[in-house]
Amino acid sequence: ATLKKYLSNQTITKTLSPKRQLLEISLHRVVNSQQFTEQFEIYYQPVVNISSGKIIAAECLLRWHSPELGLVSPTEFIPLAESIGLIMPIDQWVLQSVCKQMKIWLDARISDLTLAVNLSVIEFNQPDFIQKIVKFLKINNLEPQYLEIELTESMIMQDITSAIATINKLQSLGVRIAIDDFGTGYSSLIYLKNLPVNTLKIDRYFIHNVDQDPQKSAITKALIEMAHNLNMQVIAEGVETEAELSFLRQKSCDAMQGFLFSHPLPAAEFEKFLWNKKHLPA
Ligand code: C2E
Ligand code: MG
Ligand code: MG
Ligand code: MG
Repeated sequence: ATLKKYLSNQTITKTLSPKRQLLEISLHRVVNSQQFTEQFEIYYQPVVNISSGKIIAAECLLRWHSPELGLVSPTEFIPLAESIGLIMPIDQWVLQSVCKQMKIWLDARISDLTLAVNLSVIEFNQPDFIQKIVKFLKINNLEPQYLEIELTESMIMQDITSAIATINKLQSLGVRIAIDDFGTGYSSLIYLKNLPVNTLKIDRYFIHNVDQDPQKSAITKALIEMAHNLNMQVIAEGVETEAELSFLRQKSCDAMQGFLFSHPLPAAEFEKFLWNKKHLPA
């Protein structure tokens, strides 16, 4: 019986689906052969101020064009990259590329919008994380206020003391900080009060049908008020309908992003989007 149990445990640990094996092999290949620029692309999703209609920032979202697998979603390959030890080179490539792109857009007077970058907790917890940020800003000759780092509640709560220390260092550098997907993690409101954070992003779970669901309405309204009382700006994520937008406008939410205004766009299309100066109808 023990042998049978042993053998079945072996199969559990050793059997990976063919799809997952292919994902792993392909991801290793990208990182080991440094094919980031060939296979990875950063998309930019505009964030728009609800009352002025002006674009205020863009969120940088990674896309993987795999020759073997086609377009792979970050919800699939980011957790995988974290579990097989490949996330650090990926996040560093994203950070470097975003700083470089920002500098190009600033110099060409194409855009002076803040660029928000998502990072893994693994990168955030590296002892030399701050030094890396300083390095990327310096080699690209970029001022810090153009960069915003998005952190989730779970990233912060994992080790609250060291997270606060890192956030304070980012703030003193002049880099902006956002809390991403707010409402889905387990934040302690006691800590939130003392966190020097610029932006709170309400998770799209609450925004979806917020105008129709009394519970989502109540929570979203409370989150907006709380963020304002803590001097944070609020961004609603995943706005897809006019009805959701008008609810948010009525509750004085500062900004929003979502398919209603724009999908995430490749750099060239993002430039066109800015050129056409698409504004939110008042
Ligand atoms: P996130 O940071 O919460 O990003 C927002 C996600 O919502 C994006 O998914 C975006 O495409 C999607 N979205 C935007 N507007 C709408 C909408 O109106 N409706 C719906 N249904 N979805 C909308 P995406 O691009 O698939 O990214 C998923 C997650 O992957 C991100 O969630 C982020 O946690 C992670 N991620 C993306 N890029 C990076 C990266 O460079 N590094 C790391 N570590 N994580 C990344
Ligand atoms: Mg994000
Ligand atoms: Mg989010
Ligand atoms: Mg998310």
